[in-house]
Parts: sequence; structure tokens; C-alpha cells
Amino acid sequence: MKNKIAIFPGSFDPITKGHKSIIERATQIFDEIIIAIGINANKNTLFSLEDRKNMLEKSFHNNPKVKIASFDGLTVDFCKEHNANYIIRGLRNSADFEYEKTIHEVNTLLYPELETVLLFSEPKYGVITSSLVREIISHKGDISEFVPKEILKEVNSKTK
Ligand code: ADP
Repeated sequence: MKNKIAIFPGSFDPITKGHKSIIERATQIFDEIIIAIGINANKNTLFSLEDRKNMLEKSFHNNPKVKIASFDGLTVDFCKEHNANYIIRGLRNSADFEYEKTIHEVNTLLYPELETVLLFSEPKYGVITSSLVREIISHKGDISEFVPKEILKEVNSKTK
């Protein structure tokens, strides 16, 4: 049977415990997950692409089903190049739902074979966003409840 490959696209600026939980749960469903860091020239990020990639690699170093990549074109083109027929997205609330529905509709028009799989966030992680983490960092607060423990040292060394 063909390998079921899924991509999980996002900015991961930085990766949070919410992202990590979605990815780990997705590895129970798919054979391979490609975390695809979207490069958006118009979006200023706190962490460089290289740092974001390093942090993702550290977070999943012991999970052979997870690969890390980056892309700067259309998500559907990235999926075609990597033989991925599934996009995973996380849902925290109804605002995420409305946003994801629109993206799903556009992606389906561009690539009908692509299936979007939505996973609810774990209740304890429902309020975590990367922007909240960046805000806490900017005020020198403690982010240990919000990001994977594997990256705490790196985040602190880059921002303190
Ligand atoms: P984007 O810039 O595309 O929103 P993010 O890196 O913020 O990228 O998020 C990527 C994906 O992770 C999105 O599907 C988003 O809904 C999901 N996500 C982000 N935070 C959480 C969380 N705390 N719980 C579940 N899913 C989440």
C-alpha cells in the first residue's frame, strides 16, 4: 500500500506545545509527516528560518516519522512535489475553523486530490499561540509552559 504522507504547514515562530501535540497525534494516523515552514517575505519573524528549523529538529529528534522542510511557493505545489495527499491543520476555536475552511476550499480548487485533516487542539493547549509566546518573550517572561522543553535553552539563548 502507498505511504500516507501528510504535511503540516505553518510559521512555527516558534514551535509551541500546541503544534507538537498535533504533530505527535498525526503520526498515529500517517506514515510520514513533513513539517513545512512557510517562508513569507512579507512576514517579519522573531526567529530566523534556520533557528525555526533547528528548534523543530530538536523537538522531533526521536521521531523518525517526522521530517522538516521549508517552502516559499503555494502549499499545493509543495504537496505535489512531496507526494503528500494530506494537509494537517490544528483547530483551537471557531476563528481557526472559519480560516481553515476558506484555505481548504481554495486548496481543493487548486488540487482536488488533496484532503485537509483537522485535529482539535488538546484542551490544555487551546490558548497557546506562537504570537502569545513572542509577546511573553518580549517581556522577558517564562515560556516553559508553552514551548517544548527541548527548545527552551535555545529560545532563551537567542532572546535573552
Ligand atoms: P500560521 O502562521 O499558518 O497560523 P502557525 O505556525 O501559527 O502557522 O500554525 C500552524 C498550524 O498549527 C495551524 O493549523 C494552527 O491552527 C495550528 N496551531 C497553532 N497553535 C495551535 C495549538 N495551540 N493547538 C492546536 N493547533 C495549533
